[in-house]
Formats: sequence, structure tokens, C-alpha cells
Amino acid sequence: MSTPLPILLCPFCDAAHVLRPLPPGARARCRRCGSPLYARRRGTVAAAARLHLAAVPLFAAAHLLPFVGLELGGREQTTTVLSAALALWRHGIWWLAALVFTLMFLVPLARLLAALHLLRPLARGRLPSRAATTFRILERFRPWAMTDVYLMALVVAWAKLRDLGLLEPGPALFAFVAMLALLLGAEAVLEPLEVWERIAPQTRLTPAALATGRWIACPHCRQTLPADREGRPCPRCGGRVHARTPGSLARTTAWLLAATFAYVPANLLPVMTVVWLGRGEPDTILSGVAALYGAGLWPVATVIFLASIVVPVAKILVLAGLLAGIRTGRIAHPRLATALYRAVDAVGRWSMIDVFVVGILTALVSAGRLATVEPGPGISAFAATVVFTMIAAHVLDPRLLWDRAGARHVRVPLRPAAAGA
Ligand SMILES: [Zn+2]
Ligand SMILES: [Zn+2]
Repeated sequence: MSTPLPILLCPFCDAAHVLRPLPPGARARCRRCGSPLYARRRGTVAAAARLHLAAVPLFAAAHLLPFVGLELGGREQTTTVLSAALALWRHGIWWLAALVFTLMFLVPLARLLAALHLLRPLARGRLPSRAATTFRILERFRPWAMTDVYLMALVVAWAKLRDLGLLEPGPALFAFVAMLALLLGAEAVLEPLEVWERIAPQTRLTPAALATGRWIACPHCRQTLPADREGRPCPRCGGRVHARTPGSLARTTAWLLAATFAYVPANLLPVMTVVWLGRGEPDTILSGVAALYGAGLWPVATVIFLASIVVPVAKILVLAGLLAGIRTGRIAHPRLATALYRAVDAVGRWSMIDVFVVGILTALVSAGRLATVEPGPGISAFAATVVFTMIAAHVLDPRLLWDRAGARHVRVPLRPAAAGA
């Protein structure tokens, strides 16, 4: 009779691993698909709690004080962080204004409050009320908190406005950068699995129990559960458990088609019109990139080219390729396919840069007759493309790549996950 060990199924390929303590700084990778599983970080929960707490006054300052001002023809236009959403609202693009407001204010604020509610008691060894639900939601909305993307958009807007007028950084900008650094730091020191372990420990199984039973992974907290939990709430996190994302292929196909259709007007229609002294040409995404290259701003032009053209197209093509592979059962290299899937899932949110740039420019450049920036219909279509591809990647279950490759019944030898830096 061997002792039961904590078992973790890889969220990307279902291979079973034993959860083992790692040396500091090491990261465990799946032995079958190579995906990162968990890491040993220093001082995780307590350090993350302190960083989140320090970010609170900065969050307030970043959203209440003047952010950036633009001096143009003797008039100065001062904006706050939320001016971009407000400017889109004033131009009647309500859904886009609501989207920008949600991604760069509501979601980050909700995540900050949820982290404080959870991590501070947890660091002192107490479990706060609704800890599991809070952490599940906190994790779920992680890709939709776009503070970092917004900052990159500001850099692009700054470069675009260089010749137009004088930009003045406000105190909120410094608070915003400092807040972002703290939040990214908190993310870097926190291992989600450690929080789940404190809420309820990982299931322990003997090798015999693992081999004879059917086990599935909770898609939210990665708890290992008996297969008869299918369709019912997870005992650890309360989220609904499914061995595979229900309707994954049909839903991914639908979102991908929607994204592809939205991407056509996103490229054909103008995303914005800069009117300078009564004259202005509407810019599409492509002509905007060409103008940036023409002005010699090649680093910024490259950022926009990658974020607005390469990433969305690559994402649509990769997801379509993976779908085709799963549907036909022909996945020659499931390990490579899984890596591609992880890459498109991770970079997709950066395509929102252009949407934020249009919002920031619209807010800053409103100097009456001298110069204005008008958002065009293309930007709404483009934002829809980004959101649809993000959802398409989210609903595609990468474990299907391994099922259809005929690898479902292959069980890798039960060993600790591979440790590496
Ligand atoms: Zn794996
Ligand atoms: Zn769970």
C-alpha cells in the first residue's frame, strides 16, 4: 500500500503529475506538453498582499488627478485616465466607451479590491468569507485587466502627437506607472496554486487509485476530481466542472467567424480622422501604420503593425488551423500546437492598443477649429475583432488537441513535474 500523493492534471493536456515542492525560483513544466504548471516564488501570498495594499493610494491618485495635458495653439486640454472612455461616449460610440471603461478601470478596480479582500487575511493564516469564489473570479478576469496595454497605448499616442503640440505629463501619469509596477510585481510573486492550496489542499491519490479511476481537472482551480463530478460545482472553488469545455469546437468556430467578419470592416473603414486646420484625411489601420513609418516613427509603427495587423491575423489563422486539426483528427505535433495555442491566448489582449490610442487621441485633441480627432467606425469593428478572438481562444479547450491526436489513453509515468528555471 503506497502513500497517497497530491496529484495535478495538466490543464493543457491532462497528463498527471505529482505536486512537489520546488527549489526557489524554479518552475514546473508538464512532461507531456511542456506547458508551465506552477512555480516556486519567494514570499508569495504575504508579498502579493503588501504590493496590492501599496497600490491602493496610487490607484486613487492615478484616476483622480490630471493625467496628461496637451498644449495646442495656446489652449491646453487636460485629461484624466478616464477621459478616453468619456471622449468615445461623447462621440456616441457608447459600447466602445463602456468597453474601454470596463477594461481599464472596472476590471482592474474589481481585481484590486478582490485581491485585498482575499490576500491580506490569507497571509495571516485566516480564510476570508467567499475566498474561493473571490479568487476564481480574480483569476478569470486576469486577461481583461488592461492597465498595461493602456500604458503602451499612451506611449503610441505620445509619439503621434509629438509634432502637433506640447504634451505635459500630469501627476496621475506617475501614479499610474507606479501602480502598474506594483500590480505586475504582485502578479509575479503570486503562485495561484499556492492560494488554492490554502483554501483547500490538492486531492491526494495513490498511484493505483489514479490508474484505476477516471479523474478530471477543475478548469477553474485545477483540483483533481473524480469524473462523476462532471457538470457539478467543484468542491474547492464552486465553479462548474467539465472534463472538456462544453461545446468547445462549435463555440470557438462561431466566435472565430464573428471575429473574421468584423476584421473586414475594421480594415476597410477609417479608425479615426485627424482634422488639422480644417483639413483631414480619414485613416484606416494600415494607412495609420504607413503614416507612422513615413514620419520616421518606426518603433511605434512596428508596435501598431504587430498589435493591430500581425497579432489578429495570426490569431485567427492559428485558431482556425487548430480547429481544423482537431476536427480532422490530424495534429502531427500536439506539443507545438499547444505552444501555439498558449502564445495566441497570451498576446491577444495587446491588440487593444489601437482602440485605446484612438480613445486617448480623441480625448486630448479637441482644440476646436485648430485640430480635432474623430473616431471612425473602423475602430468599433476592430475592438469587436479583438474581443471575439480573445473569447474564441478562451473557449477552445487545448486538451482536445491531445484527445484527437490519439493520445488520450497515454498516461505519462507518474513523476514530479519537470523543474526548470
Ligand atoms: Zn500538459
Ligand atoms: Zn475548482
